[in-house]
Amino acid sequence: MRWPNLKKWPAVMGLGLLGLLAAIFVHLGWVYPINAALQVPAAQVHPLPAALEQWQDPQEQGDYFDQIKVTRVGYLVWSQFPVKVYAQPTPKSLPLIQEKWPQAVDQAIQAWQAYLPLEVTTDPNQADISISAVDPTQRSQGRIRSAETRFKLYVNDQQQLSHRCTIQVRANQTETYIEAAIRHELGHALGIWGHSQLKTDALYFSQVRTPAPISARDMNTLKRVYQQPTRLGWPVQSSDSPSAP
Ligand SMILES: [Zn+2]
Repeated sequence: MRWPNLKKWPAVMGLGLLGLLAAIFVHLGWVYPINAALQVPAAQVHPLPAALEQWQDPQEQGDYFDQIKVTRVGYLVWSQFPVKVYAQPTPKSLPLIQEKWPQAVDQAIQAWQAYLPLEVTTDPNQADISISAVDPTQRSQGRIRSAETRFKLYVNDQQQLSHRCTIQVRANQTETYIEAAIRHELGHALGIWGHSQLKTDALYFSQVRTPAPISARDMNTLKRVYQQPTRLGWPVQSSDSPSAP
């Protein structure tokens, strides 16, 4: 979990919303026809996805919502379902995980699919979330710890402020750890932008000998995240149209 795209933002905040929007495109390195009349949408709450609406925790095991960081676009909530997930096919250059990879990916995706509609896509260009394996011996692939998730912002073809996540998992781990790492990172990508302090949660901040499945506390936290406002999934506004000051 990192906030690479947001670090540069404070410097441009003084330029106001237009500067903010421009910064998004600049960071993405996109040549996007920036319409000077576009404004970043206000943060609003989306309807709760059905499966989260139905989620109940009769034992009231609590949550770690206070550990969730708010990004400058608000909470990292998805509003169009299913969320499309692409996983790199078996990485042939990584013999260590060649056989374990597809199953670890499937298991991790299935674990979250029970709570939020996810769809596996074979087209990386269609993906909201991309999962790939990183060879730790290749310096060119960068140094990551066990795994990490990043997000980028863009404006989709419906003119909504949107995000895409990339998950990278280090390849020199056992299948159990790879699956647990993907499950953990998917939790970040689906909106849990923070960590639990309890080993019994999938989003515990550290790797443990016996990785936890998705817990009631993970779900309670996710449900609260999806009840929060976000700028994501709302149309970028034209300043020509009437809007609140
Ligand atoms: Zn994490």
